[in-house]
Amino acid sequence: MISANEIILKMKNQKINYDKVMRKMISKWEQDEVRPSILIHSCCAPCSTYTLELLTQYADVGIYFANSNIHPKSEYQRRAKVQEAFIKAFNEREHQNVKYIEAPYEPHKFMKMVKDKELSDEEEGGLRCTACFEMRLELVADAADKYGYDYYASALTLSPKKNAQLINDLGLNIQDEFRANYLPSDFKKNKGYERSITLCNDYDIYRQCYCGCVFAAMKQGIDLREVNKQALTFLKNCE
Ligand code: SF4
Ligand code: SF4
Repeated sequence: MISANEIILKMKNQKINYDKVMRKMISKWEQDEVRPSILIHSCCAPCSTYTLELLTQYADVGIYFANSNIHPKSEYQRRAKVQEAFIKAFNEREHQNVKYIEAPYEPHKFMKMVKDKELSDEEEGGLRCTACFEMRLELVADAADKYGYDYYASALTLSPKKNAQLINDLGLNIQDEFRANYLPSDFKKNKGYERSITLCNDYDIYRQCYCGCVFAAMKQGIDLREVNKQALTFLKNCE
């Protein structure tokens, strides 16, 4: 199965267009008549919408929900449930078989990482986010190996608020530590972000108002008691 590096090496001295890299990898799969398997990290349903619509055309896809960064627990559970429900609805509507795999929720590990690296005061988009992306990319890469996927990827490159260049650099940097290869992406390109908004409306998907961790939520002035209250109501209605 083609590795992104085979394409990137030929793009020397250019700013890497990771969407182009992914498209070239897809072309190679088509040329070789292979349908690879890809495990994609996602932190809530919105970024997975267009990502699934695109990649299920060429590959067998799984979503890996590994997000111990999300606070509070009720909000984590809400996002996980919305993610799982979207996959179920997508599979039914599109006759697909996307898998949903959830990692254990271990917020103490995220908090310890932030404390050890002294990242609690970082602005959103700073070094705490880099460490947070890296932590979750390592988890999805490890899970891809464990569950036998050919590639691991990140749906977060769909978000205009996330640094896709950084996510892809981190994803590629850890590739040698795992059997599975990294699939780079920039899902927001080619009107991917706009399409995700349409799909969120179609599927009536909950869109959260903060990225996930307590640190960014506090800086953003989010009322976490209200978030907790609304998440608990949502969860109760799911019972
Ligand atoms: S980047 Fe934001 S919108 Fe996208 S999956 Fe993560 S929390 Fe959701
Ligand atoms: S703002 Fe989002 S990406 Fe950054 S550390 Fe918090 S949860 Fe992670």
